[in-house]
Amino acid sequence: MSKSSSSQIITCKAAVIWGCGEPLKVEEIQIDPPKSTEVRVRMLYASLCHTDIIRALGKEDPLPLFPRVLGHEGVGAVESFGDEVDGLEEGDYVIPTMLAECGACENCTLAKTNLCLTYPFSLGGLMSDGTSRMSIKGHKLYNMFSCSTWSEYMVVDSKFVCKIDPSIALPHASLLSCGFSTGFGAAWKEARVKKGSTVAVLGLGAVGLGVTEGARMQGAAKIIGIDKNIMKKRQGASFLE
Ligand SMILES: [Zn+2]
Ligand SMILES: [Zn+2]
Repeated sequence: MSKSSSSQIITCKAAVIWGCGEPLKVEEIQIDPPKSTEVRVRMLYASLCHTDIIRALGKEDPLPLFPRVLGHEGVGAVESFGDEVDGLEEGDYVIPTMLAECGACENCTLAKTNLCLTYPFSLGGLMSDGTSRMSIKGHKLYNMFSCSTWSEYMVVDSKFVCKIDPSIALPHASLLSCGFSTGFGAAWKEARVKKGSTVAVLGLGAVGLGVTEGARMQGAAKIIGIDKNIMKKRQGASFLE
């Protein structure tokens, strides 16, 4: 496997938020090279999840961290990676994942849960060594969770990315990072919808549409979409055509 480690600091643009409820500002920031288990990704597309808004407003956030680059849904191409990264090449298309998968711990191997014990979920907004790979004017920038997709480049631990088929429509792939997959997995892996079931879906946002698709794939006979926003009716129906 060819290795691609870059020691260059990259200056690029990112949407930075400096405090609770403040507007996003597009600013120039610095991105450090990836450390041994990390990848640096050139972002191509990013999308918006409700959790980004909660973090931006800070009201329901147990740990408001600023300045911060939000965004945890996205798709990009691997630009460089550390010397302990396996299975990824420069140019591979990847999406960040909310939760890591080491593939070796008890939780990862038993497949009863997807909460990896080696790389636990963290709200701290920093890399697993407690530092950041992003800075602006000498200030440390916090990640959204394990990553920050609203930036032209980001560094993320390789256990928090998933390589995707390059033939997939990339703008759609962004939505697989969090919301859609959450709903899809809920119908498939948690509720384990049975063939012929009737399924009611409360809320037809990205998560609800993921539930709809997951239920359809599992063979649900009838899917009832419920949402107080009439605008969602058309999108919901399009998933059942
Ligand atoms: Zn999300
Ligand atoms: Zn694990």
